[in-house]
Amino acid sequence: MMMKLYNTATHHKDEFTPQNAQNVTMYCCGPTVYNFAHIGNLRTYIFEDLLSRTIRLHYPLTHVMNVTDVGHLVSDADDGEDKMELGAAREGKTAWEIAKFYEEKFWQDYDALHCTRPTIISRATAHIPEMIALVKTLEEKGYTYRTSDGIYYDTSKFDHYDALVGHARIRGLQGGARVEMSDEKRNPTDFALWKFSPKDKKRQMEWDSPWGIGFPGWHIECSAMAMKYLGHTLDIHCGGIDHVTIHHTNEIAQSEAATGQKYVNYWVHGEFLILRSGKMSKSGGTFVTVDVLKEKGYEPLAYRYLCLSAHYRTQLEFSYESMDGATKSLKNLRALSCQIKREASGAKETAASSEWKKKFTAAMEDDLNAPKALAITWEVVRNNQLSASEKLDFLQFADTILALDLFSEPAPETAVVLPAEIQALVDERAQARAAKDWKKSDELRQAIAQAGYQVKDTPKGQEVTKK
Ligand code: AMP
Ligand code: ZN
Repeated sequence: MMMKLYNTATHHKDEFTPQNAQNVTMYCCGPTVYNFAHIGNLRTYIFEDLLSRTIRLHYPLTHVMNVTDVGHLVSDADDGEDKMELGAAREGKTAWEIAKFYEEKFWQDYDALHCTRPTIISRATAHIPEMIALVKTLEEKGYTYRTSDGIYYDTSKFDHYDALVGHARIRGLQGGARVEMSDEKRNPTDFALWKFSPKDKKRQMEWDSPWGIGFPGWHIECSAMAMKYLGHTLDIHCGGIDHVTIHHTNEIAQSEAATGQKYVNYWVHGEFLILRSGKMSKSGGTFVTVDVLKEKGYEPLAYRYLCLSAHYRTQLEFSYESMDGATKSLKNLRALSCQIKREASGAKETAASSEWKKKFTAAMEDDLNAPKALAITWEVVRNNQLSASEKLDFLQFADTILALDLFSEPAPETAVVLPAEIQALVDERAQARAAKDWKKSDELRQAIAQAGYQVKDTPKGQEVTKK
């Protein structure tokens, strides 16, 4: 079966035909490394990983991801500060230290969620000459103008500026609701290609350019790096849905104006992870990271399971109840898979197991229907007609896409890593018991229970499990 992908540019599930079947090209917008990635960001990387694993069933893939370590401003209006410099001021480190620290942390989380590393990782700060060259081309072709704070792209010069978003939404932007218009901008949708360093302040990250010392705009980074590694026309470009209106619209405008060629054949966007209370935000204490999940005793792969259980184009509402559900399902699926492996004397491919593998693949190839692929996996493990060896054949294949460590034997319950505050209560309870203070010991048991944990007193001491 031919793979189908929903293409934001055509508003349609299109059949996927690569330009070169020997090398599919895919660019994914990467992290801005000024803070920890939250699990919403990571939902997007999980969907991109599913796409990369599914493509690799049929084609070799070159997957490029940028790391934005400079130039992502806090405001879409091209004023406001660079997130990296802001991070440096916040933590009393240099912008370079901030970038290094949060990038390393990002890859740890990325790996923990079993996302396949990109073929090429490109840091913005290592590609300044390519960005300058692209801005120069745009300047030569008459798409740019200079203001007191930088070199800007004149969006009115590019005919199809609204191609990805639709005219109505661009008009909405022009109404000024989202982007405040600076006095010197010709059109509200114009954006900075190169920003000048402030005259009164030395920036930590700045470079010389034909227009003066400064730093690149955020959008130009992706165009320059994507085209350097993948050519003028990419097969696939991915990102979160928030990037459609501004970042990707601007990437198209810059790249197509510079090359005169189509920039991307398939635009694939993932929907957001949301909280019941709305957006995940750092200020509201609702900034959930992989470390926060681990502190609460969850395994990162349970979060991957949760993401797989919703289609990437639907919003997913995060809650700890849904994490509990995903944890339980993953545990059960692993227990059954391990049992199947023990029963089988090796995997055996038969007509029946191939049929199930085809069903699974067809689900993934139908615009990455991971919830269906998961449901098929459950059907197989519960199927009475398949032998253990046939099931094992299917599961080994399915786990190359699901990447849930299906054959890892469940860790003993006692191995649960307790959050620091629970561990403190358990330690206090141990002291109370040693002092034969049974009243206090019971009170502490209740406090631990209220926090969602269960204590069992065994000859070896207290055994604590999640309820
Ligand atoms: P950033 O580091 O802010 O550039 O974001 C990295 C990736 O995460 C981008 O592809 C964003 O579109 C995506 N993203 C941001 N917030 C969310 C969210 N709540 N849910 C899913 N993806 C998100
Ligand atoms: Zn990008």
